[in-house]
Amino acid sequence: MKRISILGATGSVGQNTIDLVRRDPGTFQVVALTGGQNVARLASDAISLGAELAVTAHEDRLEDLRAALEGSDVEAAAGREAVIEAAARPAQWVMSAIVGAAGLRPGLAAIEQGATLALANKETLVAAGPLVMGAARKHGARILPVDSEHSAIFQALRGEDSAAVSRVILTASGGAFRDWPLEDLAAATPDEAATHPNWDMGQRITIDSASMFNKALEMIEAREFFGFQPEQIEVVIHPESLVHALVGFCDGAMMAHVGPPDMRHAVGHAMYWPERHALPIDQLDLAAVAQLSFRAPDMRRYPALRLAREVMAARGLAGAIFNAAKERALDHFIAGHIGFCDMSPVVEEVLNRLVPESGGTSDRPTLETVLEADHLARQCADAVVTDRNG
Ligand code: NAD
Ligand code: MG
Repeated sequence: MKRISILGATGSVGQNTIDLVRRDPGTFQVVALTGGQNVARLASDAISLGAELAVTAHEDRLEDLRAALEGSDVEAAAGREAVIEAAARPAQWVMSAIVGAAGLRPGLAAIEQGATLALANKETLVAAGPLVMGAARKHGARILPVDSEHSAIFQALRGEDSAAVSRVILTASGGAFRDWPLEDLAAATPDEAATHPNWDMGQRITIDSASMFNKALEMIEAREFFGFQPEQIEVVIHPESLVHALVGFCDGAMMAHVGPPDMRHAVGHAMYWPERHALPIDQLDLAAVAQLSFRAPDMRRYPALRLAREVMAARGLAGAIFNAAKERALDHFIAGHIGFCDMSPVVEEVLNRLVPESGGTSDRPTLETVLEADHLARQCADAVVTDRNG
């Protein structure tokens, strides 16, 4: 049996992963599951899957987790370090589906033990791409992309010479406000932003889809994972969310990855790679789909896309700063401290204040410098929000 762990097991990607594990009994031995506040879900999944260990990220929930695991053989642990230890427990395959920069150190721990890392947590590569890719090379660990666009690119590149790639195109639904009048965006609420037209995902990534900070992160993720040049990475709005990405080659061919918006495809692809395994994904009826449409993103509506290009040009710690500032701006939006349209200016101001002095040209940040940049960027974002509201 393949020994696997699922980090962020209680979230949207984590639950999709568990769904596939349940559908294939006898194939996987679950080592560790980690989660956050939802200890009831975590415990019931750990018990039903026969996991060795269940970990909540919150130390103050340990007693609740223990109580929920009462009478089972599942070990319980809690806290940030316990999540990292869970990731380091010997396993062949580890799903990284924590949301935010909190996924970085657990992902690195999985890489350091040589496990294959199925990476949904794009923040890992945005904050510390060269560090993480370098660690994978050093420890002989493979990273498989789970973000749907990157899984699509990975599949389109199968058997191809990467030197023959001329461009990659990431598709974006355009999010909840794609068709709203621009002047209405300032008053948009977190609940309105958290409604995705096509994908069913966690709250944070869904709001990031409305602002396209998600696509901005994915541009950087594509650069770090595949090594594409920034100018090769394009974004197009595709409201149907059926084409997940396209790769263009030097001979003019474009390979598109097409399928329903169901994360179990990308999760399952990473689970069974290098084989293709049957998955519970609907077959598309193209005649019923009838049309696929594409349009250029309006840069006034999605300033995050411009910021992503600046971050890719600066390199160094710019990605860590960008990601952390974005996470704090999103927290402040969800808390009602700033409006939807304030998130990009807050992030841009943090980049302006911190990137010139961050060693933007040092290509190999260390874990310490990344964590320090993350911390400073969060403080700086809070200060920028206070200044704006003051
Ligand atoms: P989610 O909010 O539904 O779940 C997040 C998981 O992380 C939960 O298990 C939660 O308990 C855990 N978590 C949250 N904060 C934590 C912390 N500080 N320490 C440890 N664990 C913590 O998120 P999601 O939508 O499943 O997304 C997970 C990751 O996958 C994100 O990086 C997201 O960008 C990426 N992703 C998600 C989708 C999707 O369909 N949801 C698609 C592509 C990529
Ligand atoms: Mg994606």
